[in-house]
Amino acid sequence: MERVNQQLRPALQPLKRLIDTGCNGDMHYTDRQTVQLTNAVVLARLVTAIPFGILFASQGPEFFWPIFVPFIIGTLLIALTILLNARGLYLFAGVWGNLINTLQAFSALWLYFGYTTGAYFYFLLYALVPIITLPRQKKLLIAFLSSLNLFFFMVLHNHQPILPIPFSFSNLELSLVRQGSIFSTMVLIVVAFYTYQQILHRNERQLDEKSIKLNELLQAATTIATTDSLTRLANRRRMEELLQVEIARALRYSSELSLIMFDLDHFKRVNDTLGHDVGDQVLIRTGELALSRLRSVDICGRWGGEEFLVILPHTGLEGALLVAEKIRLTLETAWHDRAGIVTGSFGVAEWATNESYDTLIKRVDNAMYRAKNGGRNLVSISIEQLSQPRNLARLIWMTEWETGEQTIDSSHQKILTFANRFLEHSDAEISQIETISLLDEFEALLKDHFAYEEELLVKAKYPELEHHKMEHQQLMAQLAHMRANYQHTLANPVSLYVFITDEVVVGHLINTDIKYFPYIEAQLTAKHL
Ligand code: GH3
Ligand code: MG
Ligand code: MG
Repeated sequence: MERVNQQLRPALQPLKRLIDTGCNGDMHYTDRQTVQLTNAVVLARLVTAIPFGILFASQGPEFFWPIFVPFIIGTLLIALTILLNARGLYLFAGVWGNLINTLQAFSALWLYFGYTTGAYFYFLLYALVPIITLPRQKKLLIAFLSSLNLFFFMVLHNHQPILPIPFSFSNLELSLVRQGSIFSTMVLIVVAFYTYQQILHRNERQLDEKSIKLNELLQAATTIATTDSLTRLANRRRMEELLQVEIARALRYSSELSLIMFDLDHFKRVNDTLGHDVGDQVLIRTGELALSRLRSVDICGRWGGEEFLVILPHTGLEGALLVAEKIRLTLETAWHDRAGIVTGSFGVAEWATNESYDTLIKRVDNAMYRAKNGGRNLVSISIEQLSQPRNLARLIWMTEWETGEQTIDSSHQKILTFANRFLEHSDAEISQIETISLLDEFEALLKDHFAYEEELLVKAKYPELEHHKMEHQQLMAQLAHMRANYQHTLANPVSLYVFITDEVVVGHLINTDIKYFPYIEAQLTAKHL
């Protein structure tokens, strides 16, 4: 079927073009439909004229003028409809095609043939055609042209022809003409309705395509309206919407919700000394870095120039502090090609039940400014929530963290115990002096441990030694920095705890050290042998 279709298609092209006569691209599809149907009916009508033409032509030269020529003229008048469409006179063409068809049938029967039973085929057909070939708003016109056929049919009832055809048909001819006229009328009906069906189908398809395109456009427009064009993060408008939604959700399900707001430090300098483009690159990368530390349900957006907002659903203050600290640390350790390190100042606030959107935003904004005022590159809690009880998870020693080397294992355990002591302090109120002395102790412990470990790794011929040493140095430098910050600004100590648990214990002792375990084990076995 498909193959037949493919072979037929080129052959049908000229026919299609004729049916499309007068149609143009910017036409409304319902107008196009009436034009195409008018053309299709005319074409079908011309085909049905062929048997009559042959019959009349075969009756000899004396019937040329009285029968054949009027017949040809009538046929040409019908064909004129297509030309009218080609000129853009659509309504005129529709009325003309319908009128001529009806009048021609009527006059032929009135003059030459008289009332025949076959006549009702024509009039029935020509009563239907106005409905599909005229704009449906033209109700009166349609009703008039349709009724005209019924009227003519009634008038013709039992009518004797005025100019009876001056030749007589043989029985065969008569039956051929009758059968031919009925058959060709049927063909006309089938063609008209098939074309109608095709047009409906095509219109439907075009509408589908249009609505798909519209949908795509709508989606693109929505993306443009809700995305920041530089960082591709959600823009402020979108963040405002999302925050409203998250607040409503948190209220509905009594869940936690926190915000982090951060602003890049001394960003103006980057722009002023290196140019706006470098500044833009830093903004893009900052967005990526922040995203890399978030869960998929967290939402990060650009709130203003170099200001970002993070919405953390199902997250309390402690969790949000941890996340903020992670992002802060990520920014502090990320090297931008030309701008070097660009740090940020962070504010954190947990949504309080029934709190409004405005006060929540205000609190997180204030917290961020406290971090700025405190010396930048800090995480600051909303002042209203400073005394809120904290609940950081304690670390528990696991046997798979053991190397078998006693000194290493015991100092690893000591470091872990230390981390837990810091965490305990986050519950109890502890003075700054106590924290500092704890930090000093921790620093000394870490330093000794690192030195011992490096010595051991030299002996074990650990291939990654240099890299490992560098990591030790970085950790020590970061610790010193955090300590100084804490001392100078009284920044919240949670940053410290987070650093110690996340970066020193989990990040280094657990994730990095594990790589050298096989070398130490190999060495220990060699010693025993
Ligand atoms: P502070 O540490 O106090 O935040 O100092 P700052 O210099 O970052 O703050 P300030 O608000 O004075 O400067 C912000 C600068 O951010 C000013 C503006 O040139 C820059 N900025 C804002 N939006 C864009 C942007 O889309 N692209 C670039 N390249 N720069 C931007
Ligand atoms: Mg800034
Ligand atoms: Mg700013």
